[in-house]
Amino acid sequence: MPPRLKAILLLALYLLKTIGRRLFTRHKSGIALFRKHYDADGLPPVTPAERAAMPDFSRCIACGLCDRGEGARIAASGGAYRGVMALVLAGSRSMPDYRAAAYSFSFVTDDVLAEKERICPTQVPFRAIARFVREKATAVGGPLPLPPRIESLPPGVTSPK
Ligand code: SF4
Repeated sequence: MPPRLKAILLLALYLLKTIGRRLFTRHKSGIALFRKHYDADGLPPVTPAERAAMPDFSRCIACGLCDRGEGARIAASGGAYRGVMALVLAGSRSMPDYRAAAYSFSFVTDDVLAEKERICPTQVPFRAIARFVREKATAVGGPLPLPPRIESLPPGVTSPK
């Protein structure tokens, strides 16, 4: 078969396939299909308003001020919470990590986060980040507790229930 004819036939075949798929999946919204494909990867959809707010989540300059006074909470978490800065800089940057980040955020209250907002030199919106992380984690199964024992922790220290 001449290559040109083969290319035209392949294009026609894929056009028919695309039209058929659209006809038979017409009842499903784009969001429903997106969730079907990506929820398992921890990637729920974001709304236009959430997308607009996301640049504000990246203002951290890693000064470390927000970690002052967090020692007791870090110790009580058994390694699940490593301070607010780690959550802002790393835990809340990648959505597939949000279930673990939501669990870490459970060790710090919104009142504490409000205090951190007052001292942060770049006005990082801690409570908005925590709310976003929690909502997205909830959409794909909720906070992900750590296993009862984490090998990187010192002997005798277990992760919290
Ligand atoms: S105080 Fe603000 S800028 Fe400093 S580490 Fe914390 S979040 Fe980042």
